[in-house]
Amino acid sequence: MRILVTGGAGFLGSHLCERLLKEGHEVLCLDNFFTGRKKNIQDLMKHSGFELVRHDVVQPILLEVDKIYHLACPASPVHYQYNPVKTIKTNVIGTLHMLGLAKRVKARMLLASTSEVYGDPAEHPQKETYWGNVNPIGIRSCYDEGKRVAETFTMDYHRQNKVDVKIVRIFNTYGPRMLPDDGRVVSNFIVQALKGEDITVYGDGSQTRSFCYVDDLIDGMVRMMESENFIGPVNIGNPEEYTILDLARKIIAMTDSKSKIARKPLPSDDPTQRKPDITLAKQKLNWNPAVSVDEGLKKTIEYFKKELSA
Ligand code: NAD
Ligand code: UDP
Repeated sequence: MRILVTGGAGFLGSHLCERLLKEGHEVLCLDNFFTGRKKNIQDLMKHSGFELVRHDVVQPILLEVDKIYHLACPASPVHYQYNPVKTIKTNVIGTLHMLGLAKRVKARMLLASTSEVYGDPAEHPQKETYWGNVNPIGIRSCYDEGKRVAETFTMDYHRQNKVDVKIVRIFNTYGPRMLPDDGRVVSNFIVQALKGEDITVYGDGSQTRSFCYVDDLIDGMVRMMESENFIGPVNIGNPEEYTILDLARKIIAMTDSKSKIARKPLPSDDPTQRKPDITLAKQKLNWNPAVSVDEGLKKTIEYFKKELSA
């Protein structure tokens, strides 16, 4: 199979490219290098089945492929709020272009959507049937509403044009190859703890997130792409839920750090709780996360230790 991975030089995309190459596919990695890095795909460049296209999904492109994993979009709030208009364009126009391509070359397309479509959820844990609680005019809307429109486009291309589509809703995922200055909570806390700097807890730290290790996430995504007669959306995440304060304490303990906790203002519209209901993924994909938060954090801490010493 010839497989296109948009956002392939990013955190999740680079792990996905690696997995697909291992399975013997030809991989076309498309990225504009906004938050992606050549370093993430350096080892893959040596592989004869790997090709890199520097391109922005906001511009149309024609490629001959059998499958499309559409991941292009910054995922950290710091990055997606840096240029919110561009984030909306990436999610809306970029997804439109990938669906147009899928229609033209009859490729199957998987959309990397997000738990953010649930907004600040009034239902807990979140099932796929929940329609969400999203502020349409807030600072997170460029991402949340952008992804909601991307899901709408995906379903309409399926209903109207019979495009073969899949939607996964990804919950907070962490692991090696996150950028040290990425701004997301796991990378921030680990880097701060390793440097002995203050751990920046936003608000009172009582908000919760559920953390999935990257290998589990990629496995769920591939299972979804390979499934038949199932469009989704499906939640992919690890239901192990922590308050942000508990996560900070855990990381301080695991790194044996002298760092202190410092409170910072809570950004507006920060969801108060988040945990996936993964019943559907278990039933339809026979998928279950295999890596505990303790195990995953250990591997991620080792990765950042090496990164920082280099
Ligand atoms: P990331 O920022 O590391 O990767 C995104 C990649 O997309 C980067 O390589 C970036 O350069 C590229 N990109 C951004 N805009 C582009 C554009 N206009 N054209 C071409 N390339 C572009 O983020 P990630 O964590 O790897 O997330 C990948 C996908 O998964 C995103 O769509 C994100 O919304 C989704 N997701 C991730 C998480 C998570 O916890 N990691 C959670 C929910 C959803
Ligand atoms: N957060 C924090 N300190 C940080 C970074 C994030 O307290 O240095 C909090 C943030 O306010 C949110 C949670 O951690 O409640 C997860 O943030 P992240 O940006 O990783 O993901 P998202 O909010 O998109 O789930």
